[in-house]
Amino acid sequence: MTDTDCIFCKIVAGDIPSTKVLETERVLAFRDLYPKAPTHILVVPKDHYADTAAIAAADPQLTGELLNTAAEIAAAEGLAESGWRLIANTGPDSGQEVGHVHFHVLGGKPLGPMVS
Ligand code: C5P
Repeated sequence: MTDTDCIFCKIVAGDIPSTKVLETERVLAFRDLYPKAPTHILVVPKDHYADTAAIAAADPQLTGELLNTAAEIAAAEGLAESGWRLIANTGPDSGQEVGHVHFHVLGGKPLGPMVS
């Protein structure tokens, strides 16, 4: 299940290069190209879902796998004690730019208030 116009589908397929952090059968994590914190990693399903609402409705198990992967990555990045932030922008008001669901794992410095 891919969308030929989707940039993250192209990253999953290897057609666009990325710095991979972790890969499982159904999930890929890679470093954000424009990091907003010392650690900024995106966790995506290999299959294409538009956003969190779509994947939660279609595949709760895969949704949980994304969350588990995010926590594993945060621990591997040394963020378990200092803490980290998980963001999933969903829809226009959130500023979601890429229409392939993704969780941002952010950390490595104090991140400040979440919403301005
Ligand atoms: O949540 P949102 O859709 O705004 O986030 C998209 C993220 O994807 C941005 O943080 C952007 O830097 C990242 N990106 C990337 N590699 C690309 C295109 C976008 O890491 N080729």
